[in-house]
Amino acid sequence: MAKQDLLHRFLFEQHSVRGEMISVDDTFERILENHDYPAAVKGLLGELLVATSLLTATLKFDGDITVQIQGDGPVKLAVINGNNLQQMRGVARIDGPVVAGSTLKQMVGNGFIVITITPTQGERYQGIVAIEGDSIEESIDAYFRQSEQLPTRLFIRVGEVDGKATAGGMLLQVLPAADETSHDIFDHLVQLTATIKGQELSTLDVKEVLHRLYHEEDVTLYDPQTVEFRCTCSRERCESTLATLPKEDVKDILQKDGKIDMECEFCGSHYVFIESDIQGLNNELNQQLH
Ligand SMILES: [Zn+2]
Repeated sequence: MAKQDLLHRFLFEQHSVRGEMISVDDTFERILENHDYPAAVKGLLGELLVATSLLTATLKFDGDITVQIQGDGPVKLAVINGNNLQQMRGVARIDGPVVAGSTLKQMVGNGFIVITITPTQGERYQGIVAIEGDSIEESIDAYFRQSEQLPTRLFIRVGEVDGKATAGGMLLQVLPAADETSHDIFDHLVQLTATIKGQELSTLDVKEVLHRLYHEEDVTLYDPQTVEFRCTCSRERCESTLATLPKEDVKDILQKDGKIDMECEFCGSHYVFIESDIQGLNNELNQQLH
């Protein structure tokens, strides 16, 4: 039986190193279900989903993280957005053929990963790193090496088990108070963690995974957190967008189609506005301005 999508946090008691383990097969499936992506793009979104979930779990405050790929290849954009409640959504925009077995470079061309951290209160932070090697994992490792942050490693596993797409991963991070010896230990723990297989993340209980990887270590496991697909779109958000569009353009669409049909590219929800809705919006806007 498939496992529920969960995030597990753990701590190596003898060392100043923390860890995370996630398995997000259902969330992955929900992100893909309203779209018809080529297999290679599905894999890319899976890798981004795992990265976003693991990174969001390191937040010390309420907020969200967007991990976005931009390039000049056929995959123009691939993005996953997730918040501290582990609610995830994502989408890819493709313009041109993506052949089976395409590498990251072939899909994205000259590309970048943009990581945007948006606290609910406080200032937004953005980090950009060129795509390196042939996986999201390698590029994000480069991001952590470049930025002066705590040593952090991600392990991303996306694949298929019994014909079903699977996505899971792990993260290790040195704690702020760590001394020099922790860094050697960290390298050792990284080597152990690198042996994790996607099938193990997808099918095994967390305790079994931790025992297999770190049976000589004293590991404390914390209560899990649910990971789920959840889109944050709403009629109100569409109204705000409509209010920013040139009035003439809105009028043209209304005259031509009799309505404005806005589709959320993340979840496929439709929000329909007719002329009287738009008039109401304009009145509200005018009131705000005067
Ligand atoms: Zn939506």
